[in-house]
Amino acid sequence: MHRFTIDRNKDRRDPRVLLHRSFYLSDLPRLMLACRLTGHRPVVDGYDSKYGPEEQRRARWVACDRCGVRPEPQGHLDPDEWNLGQPYTGPTVTARRLSPIVVKQLARKGITPRLQTEPGPWPARPEGSLGAELVIGRAHTIGAQIKVGNPGSEQVLAGHIGLGPLGALFVHSERFGTWVQRRLNPTGHQSRETGFSIFHGRLSWDLWAKRGEWNASDPKWMHGSVSIDPRDHLLGPTRNRKVSETEKVPAVVRMPEGDTHDVTVHLEQWETRRTRGRATTYWMAEWDCKAGIPVRNHDWKGDATYSCSWHIEGVTPDTDRWPHIIAAAAAEQCTRDRARYNYRAPSKEDA
Ligand SMILES: [Zn+2]
Repeated sequence: MHRFTIDRNKDRRDPRVLLHRSFYLSDLPRLMLACRLTGHRPVVDGYDSKYGPEEQRRARWVACDRCGVRPEPQGHLDPDEWNLGQPYTGPTVTARRLSPIVVKQLARKGITPRLQTEPGPWPARPEGSLGAELVIGRAHTIGAQIKVGNPGSEQVLAGHIGLGPLGALFVHSERFGTWVQRRLNPTGHQSRETGFSIFHGRLSWDLWAKRGEWNASDPKWMHGSVSIDPRDHLLGPTRNRKVSETEKVPAVVRMPEGDTHDVTVHLEQWETRRTRGRATTYWMAEWDCKAGIPVRNHDWKGDATYSCSWHIEGVTPDTDRWPHIIAAAAAEQCTRDRARYNYRAPSKEDA
């Protein structure tokens, strides 16, 4: 058994995180009482997938139906001959897997051992691992979730609970929990998640949903979300709409490198309100440069152009010189982008 921990807060110390640490217990012996008493129950395990290279879309190996332990080697059966879940009645070999050292020695002589198709003997001392990650202090999630892995998952079971400003706990198992995985998710290549999370005033849930995948054909109960912001129910949802805008006015953007660019600028007035609430309005500044202001050097497609709109506070048509303020803000924005992309202005000889 090995035990170790990793301090996750060491490199990016966040004062709101008091502790962020991972814990691992690996090579723990597995109990598997029933299998020790009555022997393993070999079945065909594996997956059928729609993805990946043709020859890797289907795989078959042998595992114990009860504890999930696989023989060593696990075997490499013909998917046309063996169905997932059927009892394995085929031959087994007594030869153990070649050690990595022997494989290397053979490779040096130019010999690649044939992939062993038949499963080997059961491991004498099956082992598994457990892991956890604990955050005390600010965590980025509020919610809880349980994952049941698929036959190919490294993490058989996993779960987490997030308490926002208080912290979070993540746990997972490797090899342990295979009995549960084999009962609930014995075939396929997809892990399943069940849980809920709260984010930006909405409660979202997943019920036995495929991990990292969402399809329009999924049943309704599988995913969903509902607003838990009382204002949404009392006052109705928030909507934004454009109320008015100024005409487009010419202006000049002067860059620190000395180049100038003709642009047009204008202001848009937007209103945000709930169905039964008070409206608030704000102004958005927009600038547009037909030719574009270069901020980045490209060898293959010329220098990149730029055009954008953003929220500048305090600029309204009542401010006399608003076109100049927007032009100055555009120059600042482009200067920041030039710095980010390490832009080199064309030299006199190039021009
Ligand atoms: Zn077993």
